[in-house]
Amino acid sequence: MAEVMTVRGPVPGAELGYVDAHEHLFLRTPALAGDEFWDPEKSTAEAAAVRAGGISTIVDLTPVGLGRRPAALAQLSADAGVHVVAATGYHRSAHYPAWHWAREVSADDLLDVLLTDLTVGMDDRDWAGPRPVPTTVRAGIVKLGASYQRITSDEARWFDAGAEAGRRTGVPIAVHTETGTLGHEILDRLDATSRVMLCHLDRNPDLGLHGELASRGAYLVYDTIGRIKYGPDSRILDLLEGMAAAGLAGQVCLGTDVGRRSMLRAYGGGPGMDVLGRRFLPRLEQHLGPDLVDQVMRRTPARFLSGAPL
Ligand SMILES: [Zn+2]
Repeated sequence: MAEVMTVRGPVPGAELGYVDAHEHLFLRTPALAGDEFWDPEKSTAEAAAVRAGGISTIVDLTPVGLGRRPAALAQLSADAGVHVVAATGYHRSAHYPAWHWAREVSADDLLDVLLTDLTVGMDDRDWAGPRPVPTTVRAGIVKLGASYQRITSDEARWFDAGAEAGRRTGVPIAVHTETGTLGHEILDRLDATSRVMLCHLDRNPDLGLHGELASRGAYLVYDTIGRIKYGPDSRILDLLEGMAAAGLAGQVCLGTDVGRRSMLRAYGGGPGMDVLGRRFLPRLEQHLGPDLVDQVMRRTPARFLSGAPL
């Protein structure tokens, strides 16, 4: 049976339940200065609220250098009663200071970091104690990122490392797109046999484009649910309806990506990490029925994460 590596060990794809496919449980980046969050108790409260909304797996797409806390993720997973799939990889350039080591080291070293995270365990170097403490908490997915309408020279090197890590380990790859751009170019850069999920496609709600990308085998994640400044949730219902009518709903996953302190209810913000289960899924079920909910929340993410159909 195909298994998915979670922060507390391998879990069969069939046991993941409903999956929030794009989340951040701890985050610190110069691109969102002042919106960092790292408090384990508050993140555990958010994750417990997600669990209470019927979602039992959270995919944390926080890659190298953005404040991952591997040991705290494992503890949160146990305390909140959710599976957590952690990420390795490199985000788009804007998330790293100009002097960051990831811009300087060799291609071999870039790859070695990813392979260690995926096969041995992540360390807590993002939290900069006197020495990074290694853990046996393994990543289960590679996260990469592209800038708006272009892939920078650093991002291109990071794509090469991520693609090779995916080839060698068989783990899936999630890619940040800036405002839903460059989907085809990103797929061109990655191995056609890799399982690739494009994030934020609902920021560019172009159903024809989504159909083209899904027809190439890409998974799309609609992950601005509840973040109304990007548009009403109704546009995501419309996109899902259109993808279902085209026979492509099996390539779509859902998430909320509430990657800012100001979006978390534990810090007094909103809409909260649980908005997907609490607000959106009841609406989706009413609009398109329970089978489509089961498909996008359970069957499709299990296939993406594990590589095997349910
Ligand atoms: Zn994100």
